[in-house]
Amino acid sequence: MSTSKKITIAVDGYSSCGKSTLAKALAKKLGYEYIDTGAMFRSVALYCLENGLIKENGEEVYKVKDFLEDIDIQFKTNQQTGESVVLLNELNVEEKIRTMTISRLVVKVSGIKEVRAKLAALQIEMGKEKGVVMDGRDIGTVIFPDAEMKIFMTAATDERVRRRYEELKQKGQKVTKSEVAENLAL
Ligand code: C5P
Repeated sequence: MSTSKKITIAVDGYSSCGKSTLAKALAKKLGYEYIDTGAMFRSVALYCLENGLIKENGEEVYKVKDFLEDIDIQFKTNQQTGESVVLLNELNVEEKIRTMTISRLVVKVSGIKEVRAKLAALQIEMGKEKGVVMDGRDIGTVIFPDAEMKIFMTAATDERVRRRYEELKQKGQKVTKSEVAENLAL
């Protein structure tokens, strides 16, 4: 058994700068757990869309805060790939949460203070044993202000657009660079 002390690593920064690429690589190298907090917000957005709480255009039909108890989010390591996947009410939603529709809706959902409070509590709980690499904006400031290691990532806007565009294209999604640029500016 390793006697080295486990720490918390917070990777903060703007989207599409390579936060998750770096965080995953660090977690793999150190044998730590990787927690993608963006995936948590995206999962809440997916739940809202699939259950008619929010329309595709972002209109809130029912109060999302009244349904938070019905949303269970966990991470599980895929035994074949060794990668961490997000489970929404026990279903793997990794693919479903990476669409442009969800990218647009997540901004709305992440602005709801009760959603932030629920996910913050969950993130703190997930990190309490240490040995985690957690990525997402505000992780190093609000969630783990005392993290032993904090990394903040940024990149030129053009590069962020290129990364996100390539990621979506690879997944077979029809999207233009200007739509991606618009979404990243939110
Ligand atoms: O990093 P990713 O693009 O997957 O994050 C999706 C969205 O979730 C962000 O654009 C932001 O609105 C929200 N988010 C957040 N706080 C975090 C992680 C993500 O508000 N810690």
